[in-house]
Amino acid sequence: MPPANCSVIIVGGGPCGLMLANELGRRAISAVVIDQKPGTAFNPQANATQARTMEHFRRLGLADEVRALGMPPDYPTDITYYTRFAKHELARFQLPSARQAQQTVQTLSGSWSAAELPHRVSQKFVEAVLRRKAESWPSISINYGWRFLDVAEDDRGVEAHIERIEDGARRTLHGAYLVGADGARSSLRARIGASYEGETGVVRNFMGGRMHAVYLRAPTFYQTIRHKPAWMHVTFNRDRRALMAAVDGKSEFAFHTQLHPDEDDKAITEEAARSMFEAAVGVPIDIEILGRVTWTAGHTLVADRFRRGRIFIGGDAAHLFTPTGGLGYNTAVEDAVNLAWKLAAVVKQQAGPALLDTYEFERQAIARRNTRYARAFADSLGRLIPTPEIEDETAEGQAARRVAGEYFNKHARAEFNIPGITFGGRYDGSRGVISDGTSPPPDTANEYRPTACPGGRPPHLWLADGRSLFDSFGMDWTLLRLGPGAPDAEPFMRAAGALGLPLDVVSVPSEQARDLYAADLALIRPDQIVGWRGNSAEAAGEILTSISFRSVGVG
Ligand SMILES: Cc1cc2nc3c(=O)[nH]c(=O)nc-3n(C[C@H](O)[C@H](O)[C@H](O)COP(=O)(O)OP(=O)(O)OC[C@H]3O[C@@H](n4cnc5c(N)ncnc54)[C@H](O)[C@@H]3O)c2cc1C
Repeated sequence: MPPANCSVIIVGGGPCGLMLANELGRRAISAVVIDQKPGTAFNPQANATQARTMEHFRRLGLADEVRALGMPPDYPTDITYYTRFAKHELARFQLPSARQAQQTVQTLSGSWSAAELPHRVSQKFVEAVLRRKAESWPSISINYGWRFLDVAEDDRGVEAHIERIEDGARRTLHGAYLVGADGARSSLRARIGASYEGETGVVRNFMGGRMHAVYLRAPTFYQTIRHKPAWMHVTFNRDRRALMAAVDGKSEFAFHTQLHPDEDDKAITEEAARSMFEAAVGVPIDIEILGRVTWTAGHTLVADRFRRGRIFIGGDAAHLFTPTGGLGYNTAVEDAVNLAWKLAAVVKQQAGPALLDTYEFERQAIARRNTRYARAFADSLGRLIPTPEIEDETAEGQAARRVAGEYFNKHARAEFNIPGITFGGRYDGSRGVISDGTSPPPDTANEYRPTACPGGRPPHLWLADGRSLFDSFGMDWTLLRLGPGAPDAEPFMRAAGALGLPLDVVSVPSEQARDLYAADLALIRPDQIVGWRGNSAEAAGEILTSISFRSVGVG
């Protein structure tokens, strides 16, 4: 039975809800998660965990566990394009295995200077890890098999009515806040008077229309196609466009094919699904179907509001992507990271309630940005139409394949090497950030220029003892003292003490760190965003009061 009282009620136990539970749990905030499914996802769903998400998992102590999941450690994460999987290979973008990623991350600089690199792993595995971790926090209660029915709200809190799927038993939950992490069909979105804005129903040759997803086992796939292993496989022909991610690197795959206008998704039999897969492979192959679902590609949607009063929405409930670029689930995780510390700070009275207003401001802008990037990748992939001779064994066919290969080589590097998208999301203009008057570098998908200009991810570096700088950050606020001549942190500590704000001070005496941050001091928010930077601690009281939305004076 879910406990009747908590601080935060979370509807939805997908990546957004589970991450929120973990971020609240590690701050000892009580939360109840309910989800109508019997457990975490069975179908693979999203297949890419971006580097920034891995950095968030690292803070929870989960990065190594997640990186060990999915494909074997030496399995390459290449992106490949074929006419059909067992026919012509058109292009290949080579990417490291999990083991190589772990080995090389400490040697990278510039765009990829990071605590973690991306990991190609199906969401189903990640959800199971997030659930186990969430269940380990004493203040968190996770309840699958419960449906959210309704919510009432007044100035003191929210009252949610829920129902157990198994027997219809009803229960009422009381909380200070409620978060709808209830996915694309969110009922909370409508309840807060929000609606999706943007584009929907976009038709493309690929990644624009009804998609049939088949989770399948094909033990002979690698012998059959006789190409080098890859993580992502994409077909390019005139009758069966598809993409397919390797799930376990052995026999399981997540296959998605776009349906033709005359293929009615409700009438697709298992036999028809097998034929679709066989058409994508190009030769006969035996498979076992583990799961099937139809979904729609072609959404670029962001809710016009993310909050009403004590009720918030996040994840797919607040934005819906076409999955090119692999951004939907990653954006959902980051919504949770952004919202959790703010809810925790307000519940603990370490911050004024106006801090919560910054959630919509910050995350709606990111959702618009990320959905725009995803749409551009979908256009690049899906609006390219195979020429009639693409599969012909003729000189014309060969020429068509060469042209397509050149195109995909470029496209793959644009869609799958995205440090700029991953690390470059910013909260400029938010009241949760104190601008220093400088401007950040331009926002680009494929390049990230580290900057401590307030509002973005702190620049990363490896410390002399081999740890990531990010490992030294506290769970809440961190003041970085950078370079050999950094000012004393005492004014900040005194101000934080007076405000009741948890603040860690980290000194990094290297010149390199000072140069990277272009300041002697930087204040890092609990979600690892630069909140302020400067060279003097004199205004510490004003800075902390402003950034925590506290109006009390500092003695
Ligand atoms: C087939 C498929 C393939 C995908 N591929 C990719 C990909 O390659 N890359 C990518 O980035 N994204 C992909 N996505 C999208 C990605 O899975 C989502 O962006 C991600 O799951 C969003 O997480 P979330 O927590 O916001 O929502 P969800 O994962 O949808 O979780 C919402 C949860 O809320 C629960 N819920 C809903 N209503 C209620 C209610 N009334 N009561 C109780 N519980 C309720 C649901 O049961 C569900 O578990 C794919 C999605 C699908 C379906």
